[in-house]
Amino acid sequence: MFEWSDEDLMVRDAIRGFIEKEVKPHVDELETGQLPPYDIIRKMLTTFGMDTMNTESLEAELAAEEAGEERAPGGGSSTLANSMFLILNMEMAGVSLGTIASMGVSLGLTASTIRSRGTLAQKRRWLPDLVTMRTVGAWAITEPDSGSDALGGMKTSVRRDGDDYILKGNKTFITNGPHADTIVVFAKLDEGDGTPIRDRKVLTFVLDGDMPGLTRGKAFKKMGMMSSPTGELFFDSVRLTPDRLLGETEDTGKDKRGGDSAKSGFTAERIGIAALSLGIINEAQRLSIDYAKSRTLWGQEIGKFQLIQLKLAEMEIARLNVQNMLFVAMEASKAGKPPTLAQASAMKLYSARAATEVAMEAVQLFGGNGYMAEYTVERLARDAKSLMIYAGSNEIQVTHVAKGLLA
Ligand SMILES: Cc1cc2nc3c(=O)[nH]c(=O)nc-3n(C[C@H](O)[C@H](O)[C@H](O)COP(=O)(O)OP(=O)(O)OC[C@H]3O[C@@H](n4cnc5c(N)ncnc54)[C@H](O)[C@@H]3O)c2cc1C
Repeated sequence: MFEWSDEDLMVRDAIRGFIEKEVKPHVDELETGQLPPYDIIRKMLTTFGMDTMNTESLEAELAAEEAGEERAPGGGSSTLANSMFLILNMEMAGVSLGTIASMGVSLGLTASTIRSRGTLAQKRRWLPDLVTMRTVGAWAITEPDSGSDALGGMKTSVRRDGDDYILKGNKTFITNGPHADTIVVFAKLDEGDGTPIRDRKVLTFVLDGDMPGLTRGKAFKKMGMMSSPTGELFFDSVRLTPDRLLGETEDTGKDKRGGDSAKSGFTAERIGIAALSLGIINEAQRLSIDYAKSRTLWGQEIGKFQLIQLKLAEMEIARLNVQNMLFVAMEASKAGKPPTLAQASAMKLYSARAATEVAMEAVQLFGGNGYMAEYTVERLARDAKSLMIYAGSNEIQVTHVAKGLLA
């Protein structure tokens, strides 16, 4: 694959039509946090038949599992092979990164964690509503004192109480946290045997949003992506029945953290960041080219100045590189050889940095106008920066790339 197919371009145009009509008129309300993004996301899924597609593929997967057939769970590398999903991410990123990020956390991280680790009964209980976004999902691992060191430094804990567990602690920076109906929460098992907290098992539970003892903070004010509500969750002795423990087993594998099953989710998420980055680069470049052709100084268009041309050329290099990386990842996934975690980390590291640099250069190219909220490049620059922080900060991606190289 070296370019989008004709069919992909048709899908892209249809998505652009939807964005023009259904998203752009609401961007101000979305980006000031006045309008939660969920109804727009639901409308988008319905318009493109993605709710039906997701339901059918889930049903087929669950039926196969019920019949005892071996089948790779969807939601991970299978999502990468789906160009419609990537195009949707890309196109939305240039207009409302937060809206699509909220969808990604719900449909991606939350649903795919339940999909890969849950029992059949747990999948039947939570997934049908999640994959259509009738319910909003959140995925909560980060805590105030443990961000990049999420698993080791985690303090949120569960203790057994008869057959149940009691959950105490808090999480922060949780996408969809202020609104979520279904929340995947990671917690350390406290067996009361003096095991140092760093070495305790990490268990994963699914909570409903209205459980006694669960409270949430208001959505944080952020630098960008205000269309994605991000907030804190507090667990004050939340009682969890064992059917909320994912997989209904405390066996978390050798690393005590369920690390292997998390890997395919992280890989998909990091490649998803490349699609979002490409969306920002495309939009920043498109706006920059238009501006370079229309802004006149010293009697000529600024596009005639070589330093402006250098900016456009560097945007093009970034666009080509990120797009090519994405095409290779899609092709490899279709061939059943999805990128490794180290490769996906390299993609995330490069593309998030490229998107941030391109968007900042677009601001520069626009001069004073670029610094004004009226011109979209200002928002693109604020939004792009987030891509270097979440889904594992860029510094953490370095460690994953290096680990792959030095293994
Ligand atoms: C908009 C947004 C949405 C988010 N959504 C979610 C969510 O839905 N669920 C969730 O659980 N979390 C979420 N997060 C949290 C996010 O995953 C963390 O912010 C991120 O992992 C970094 O952790 P931290 O903020 O604690 O930074 P820290 O870990 O405190 O890092 C501080 C600095 O140290 C660097 N650093 C850390 N370790 C190393 C190292 N070993 N070597 C070199 N440098 C290092 C970091 O890169 C960073 O520059 C979200 C964050 C944001 C901004």
